Amino acid sequence: MPRRYVIALIKHETNTFSPIPTPLSAFGHGNGPAFGAAARERFACTNTPMAAYLDIGERERAEVVTPVAAEAWPSTKTSRATFEQLIGPLEDAVRGGCDAVFLDLHGAMVIEDCDDAQGEIVRRLRRVAPKLPIAVTLDYHTNLSSELVDNATVITGYKTYPHVDMYDVGKLAGEILVRALNGEVEPVMAWGWRPLLASIMRHAPDDGPSRDIVRYAREMESSGRVLAATFLASFPHADTPNTGVSAVVVGDRKRDGIEAAKEICDKMLEIAWKRRAEYTFVAPPLAESVARAKALGEGAPGRPVLLIDHCDNCGSGGAQDVMAVVAEVLRQQLDDVAIAPIRDPESVAQMIAAGVGNEVALELGGKTDMPSIDLQAKPLHIRGRVRTITDGEFTVTGPMYTGLAMHLGRTAVLDTGKVEIVVTERAHEPMDVGVFTHCGIDPLRKKFIMLKSRIHYRAGFKPIASHIVECAGAGVTNADLSVYRYQKLRRPIWPLDPL
Ligand SMILES: [Zn+2]
Repeated sequence: MPRRYVIALIKHETNTFSPIPTPLSAFGHGNGPAFGAAARERFACTNTPMAAYLDIGERERAEVVTPVAAEAWPSTKTSRATFEQLIGPLEDAVRGGCDAVFLDLHGAMVIEDCDDAQGEIVRRLRRVAPKLPIAVTLDYHTNLSSELVDNATVITGYKTYPHVDMYDVGKLAGEILVRALNGEVEPVMAWGWRPLLASIMRHAPDDGPSRDIVRYAREMESSGRVLAATFLASFPHADTPNTGVSAVVVGDRKRDGIEAAKEICDKMLEIAWKRRAEYTFVAPPLAESVARAKALGEGAPGRPVLLIDHCDNCGSGGAQDVMAVVAEVLRQQLDDVAIAPIRDPESVAQMIAAGVGNEVALELGGKTDMPSIDLQAKPLHIRGRVRTITDGEFTVTGPMYTGLAMHLGRTAVLDTGKVEIVVTERAHEPMDVGVFTHCGIDPLRKKFIMLKSRIHYRAGFKPIASHIVECAGAGVTNADLSVYRYQKLRRPIWPLDPL
């Protein structure tokens, strides 16, 4: 009898301060969730944990069921009703009987009445089948809970940011679970948490304490002492009691057991805690950063200088329409700039109505009030020519989400002479050059590229950049954590409290 595997994806990074709603239609990156065979189709052969699980299922000649695949760009809490529509088919599939479940989850998903959606998912599946073997993959930006660890068999998380190792992390979790089913290993997990809010601008395992922690985790995995070692840098824009840096290690009872797992878990957290001051990010004033970028661009012709507008990044729940950095770029008269993307359906409609080649005057962006941080929407008055109109569809060719189709909605490029701005109907994190190339802009030929991104841009754009300048505008992904009115955090917590 072939084994029956349930493979599912339910993912959302919830910025509880975000003004952007998360209806059911937001899942599937704006095209709605996929159920049944469509779930498998959407994610097969992509760089995701779900694809790795599917490959394992096929190799094992298992009967594979894919009840749901649903991922939305970061935004505010989902409603209970939306969440039930996602988890319902998954529960039904488990109720139908299965040998194991393989879950591609986020780790920072919050529902209106539950601070830890992923904890609820595994708890409810275990309620249906108490001994069910469950593998879970998590995003690097997880706020880990005991409920999640207690109800899963194996947990692994991304070790990269930008997250270019999603497939590998799914493969690791999936293979451990299959080996457990075969009786080759006996997984046992140790985990820990520290009261540390780490700024996302300082998360990347390319630098800072994360580099040493992730390197250590990889060494421990290759040593064979444990099956998997994961450091989770947290998601500080979710106001929950679980928010903070954590680690989870999968040991093998047949080898070094829980002791090795505990020791390695503690060591990772010890490095993070000792070097907690390095996780704080202080941004210079905006005008200073833009002036620096301008000087770098004029001094170094060839490859573009990147201006990173990190406070309003939809990849962490931003509205993608705060115009502060664009306004400063125009004020300082940078020339030969490509900007992507500004989310503004009204302006897109106006540009489409005007038609390619024609002049338009727009009140661009600035449509979204952000009461959680007392920020009022402020559009930018701008004139230009409509250069291109597209359907906003392209497939990622870069290393992050390779092969996945992106849906920006109708998209139009505004050309002011000095600046070309990609304006979209839907929010999109610019992690791939396709955001420009699909509308006829060659980013390599620009002097400056301005991106509404924080770290994920590095996947597609770091290789083509001469310099990178982080520009602090405004928005709900502000690195300055003092702008947020936290209510649910466990206190005291670094760096908000002296510790
Ligand atoms: Zn992430």
